[in-house]
Amino acid sequence: MIHYIVIWPAISMICMTLMMMIAIRLFSNAAVDYEIKREIRKSTDNNRRNLSVVNGKLEIADGFSYQSDNVSFVVLKRNGEILAGEYPENIRSDMENFPIRNNLSSALVCDGATYYVRDARIGRMGGKGLFLRGFLKKSDADSVYRKLEMGSYLMISGMLCVVLFGTLILAKRISKELKNMCQTAEHIGSNLDMSQRMRCEDHMFREIAVLASANNRMLDRLEQTFRLQEQFTSDVAHELRTPVAVVLAQCQYAREKVRDASDYQEVLDAIYRQSKKMNTLITQLLKFSRLDQDRVQMQEEVLDLMEIVQSVCEEQQEKGNDTIAIHLHLHEAVTTGDISLIIIVIQNLVENAIKFSYPDGQVDVETGENSGQAYVRVTDYGIGIEPEKLENIFRRFYKCDQSRNAEGFGLGLPLSLKIAKKHGGRIDVRSTVGKGSEFTLWLPKK
Ligand code: ADP
Repeated sequence: MIHYIVIWPAISMICMTLMMMIAIRLFSNAAVDYEIKREIRKSTDNNRRNLSVVNGKLEIADGFSYQSDNVSFVVLKRNGEILAGEYPENIRSDMENFPIRNNLSSALVCDGATYYVRDARIGRMGGKGLFLRGFLKKSDADSVYRKLEMGSYLMISGMLCVVLFGTLILAKRISKELKNMCQTAEHIGSNLDMSQRMRCEDHMFREIAVLASANNRMLDRLEQTFRLQEQFTSDVAHELRTPVAVVLAQCQYAREKVRDASDYQEVLDAIYRQSKKMNTLITQLLKFSRLDQDRVQMQEEVLDLMEIVQSVCEEQQEKGNDTIAIHLHLHEAVTTGDISLIIIVIQNLVENAIKFSYPDGQVDVETGENSGQAYVRVTDYGIGIEPEKLENIFRRFYKCDQSRNAEGFGLGLPLSLKIAKKHGGRIDVRSTVGKGSEFTLWLPKK
């Protein structure tokens, strides 16, 4: 299998190695050239000191040598005639034709090989110059450098192999771990099995482990959302089942035989009540869905909470809840928001307070401003909520006591909280079982 993850690093490593080799080659050529010229100059100058022209004759001291290290020597006249020493046979004619250049090191190609030549003036003989010529074959002198160069190539290639091999092993491990993640994702996608999680172990690469745990956290949230969705569908079906069953039964009863007018009236009343209940549920669900999808166009305006509370409470009293006394304690409370949404919240809180009060009880509704916020506080002295249930009351379809709240759907408080949050506010609750509850809606003060 090709590990695409290593292709680019491998290509760049190979390119870098090639570039390093070319650089070594260029530098070593220049270094070899410099070193050989230095060597031939040193040997020629040293050897030159053993030669002199005395009384028109060439004197050769004992220290003179025709071969020193790799350099060979001949003594020449200006016209190229050799006085002492000799050229090897294969390069003789080329060397003889090569012009004398005093104190200059030059390269020439003879018999397919490169030679370095250096001439040093000894003196004058017979009116003409006399020179010592040192020459050496490049391949004799540069073998050490070439070995070093080869050594460098081998070392670089070895390092390249080690790095490539290491990279390949790393890539294999990374690919394997990524492949596992992909397989898990594929499995979740095709089977919608939200219980699966990506492997996240200590020996894994940190970055991959971080990616896997981030994916797992996302899957946790998705699973929770899926579960809520399923729960939501089953709750809606459950809430609709009873009213639909009642409507069907009433219709069945009316169709069985001809009934008198009062029977039909009763049937119609029952169907009306159940339809109204279904209508309330559908309206609340629609509100939720619109708020969830941010499809509610908020009509922002300055709201006087004292006025709104007053009108909501009057409406409640008119509805016939006169066994419960509503006491208003109204102080200035101004906010901004959508009046139709804020009314829904206040209505819910007041209706709940009335619903869960003891007969002939009292509900206190207070408005005011505190710490830069406007508030509406609804206090009842009714049945209260158990502490362990308190945290659930804002969950959709949650009812603390099914039998006491057969009419409700458990949607009022979650909807109210959603609206409060949409306005930048919150709802606080305090409750004691058997003593009552206090719900406070907080909204930013205008
Ligand atoms: P519903 O719309 O059915 O009344 P809510 O969401 O408004 O549902 O309330 C959820 C549950 O919280 C209610 O079923 C009830 O058990 C509890 N609850 C809400 N308000 C009060 C209150 N003032 N006193 C006691 N229990 C309450």
